Amino acid sequence: MHVVQQPTPKMDFNLEPELLKGLHVEGDTTFVNSLQSEHFGEPIRELSYRIYLYPNERTELLLSNMLEGRQIIASMTGFKTFAERALKGTLAESPENVWNFLENIAEKIRDGARKEYEIMRSIKMEKKETDSISVRHDEIMPWDPPYFANYCRKKLYDEESICDYFSLGVCMEGLNMVFKSLFDVTLENVKPEEGEVWHYDIYKLAVTHRTEGILGYIYCDFFDRKEKPNQDCHFTIHGGRMKEDGEYQLPIVVLHLNFMFPGSFTPTLLQPSQLENLFHEFGHAMHSMLGRTQYQHVTGTRCPIDFAEVPSVLMEYFVSDPRVLSAFAKHYKTGEPLEGERLMNFCKSKRLFLYSDYQLQVFYALVDQAFHGSWKSDTYDCSYTDILRDIQNKYYGIPHVKDTAWHLRFGHLVGYGGKYYSYLMSRAVASRIWRQFFKDDPFNRENGERYRQELLAHGGERHPSELIEALLGEKPTIEMLTESLVEDLRQRSLIPA
Ligand SMILES: [Zn+2]
Repeated sequence: MHVVQQPTPKMDFNLEPELLKGLHVEGDTTFVNSLQSEHFGEPIRELSYRIYLYPNERTELLLSNMLEGRQIIASMTGFKTFAERALKGTLAESPENVWNFLENIAEKIRDGARKEYEIMRSIKMEKKETDSISVRHDEIMPWDPPYFANYCRKKLYDEESICDYFSLGVCMEGLNMVFKSLFDVTLENVKPEEGEVWHYDIYKLAVTHRTEGILGYIYCDFFDRKEKPNQDCHFTIHGGRMKEDGEYQLPIVVLHLNFMFPGSFTPTLLQPSQLENLFHEFGHAMHSMLGRTQYQHVTGTRCPIDFAEVPSVLMEYFVSDPRVLSAFAKHYKTGEPLEGERLMNFCKSKRLFLYSDYQLQVFYALVDQAFHGSWKSDTYDCSYTDILRDIQNKYYGIPHVKDTAWHLRFGHLVGYGGKYYSYLMSRAVASRIWRQFFKDDPFNRENGERYRQELLAHGGERHPSELIEALLGEKPTIEMLTESLVEDLRQRSLIPA
């Protein structure tokens, strides 16, 4: 188990038995192995938060060794900081730009986030009247937002029954329909050769263009099994490239997901987050399929990560759109389409508490920048927890809680190393593409083709800002990207800022 995920054991809670429901108890010991952020009782959310995030010397040492090691690599290769090294060649270009981007957003979403916390607080106070054991503080605390977001979402739709509209087969038809409309391609099941796939439940899709023929292949490794890592991802087996004989080598990629294997009488039904992941990962796969670069090391997703998430995040806009959803989602038993109030409420649920959610992402990204940048050496001799606390208190709407070290549980500091901001920046671009080309008509073939030719086809062979400018007709400066993300919130949020 990864060190950031190790459980913290804790005994003697002395709490109402009703509240302890759902916790992991072994003999006299209750284990806190997650934040329990969706637990209905605040005492449990609070305890879990305080215990799970309690500073741990061993992890702090590992983190500081990693960051110091990264600083050494940066110095040896002629960079001031690891962030500076990590950002070379990206859309953002430099740590200063990333910091500006994040700080500008933080400033512009502060009021919206504050309003959302006020709404959460009023729900909390209502709850206190009816069920006092489940509320402890009158303020919104850092362990509250996921619970209240989920609470409001559940009022809009029933998680169990909405899944009935999203059988895997129907969702694949949905993807097929979107790609057919945008790019004139279809996803066709082909039988793998003997010994070609690594497990019997993997299927192979040929991505076929109506006039250009087969553009590439996707292996769909969709189902959960024992030895499989529990992470959704896309990876390339080999990229597209122009061969010496003038023939184009077709891209081959894998989509690795963790859906439940279908039962004897029920198909695989996707939860809303799984549906979104499916569309997201297919966004990556199509980036690879539609790439037509000369060299394979710069094809498809092989581009800077703050740009690589653009096609996948764009697909999340498609799958949140009622016109797209109603064109494919239907009940697996009755065939009844997802429509009317049920459909609208489901779409609404995706627009709840966006400001506070973005504010949290901005805070995470700033911590990642600070740790990999010059914050520590420039300011004063402080611990990583001090940096975390300062950033949280300055940029996040809910203050830091003493003796908690959230950064020691944030595994993304390892994998992203100075690039956690990438999702926000990619979203800034993707949302602009959505508004400019697909918001009026998510099935627009002409705009789909334009998006393919100007952006997807080039992978990382040209600088991301060149590709974005060619498509959008405007240079993606930090101001433009900030404005785009703020506009996205303005348009989508259910709560006017
Ligand atoms: Zn992605």
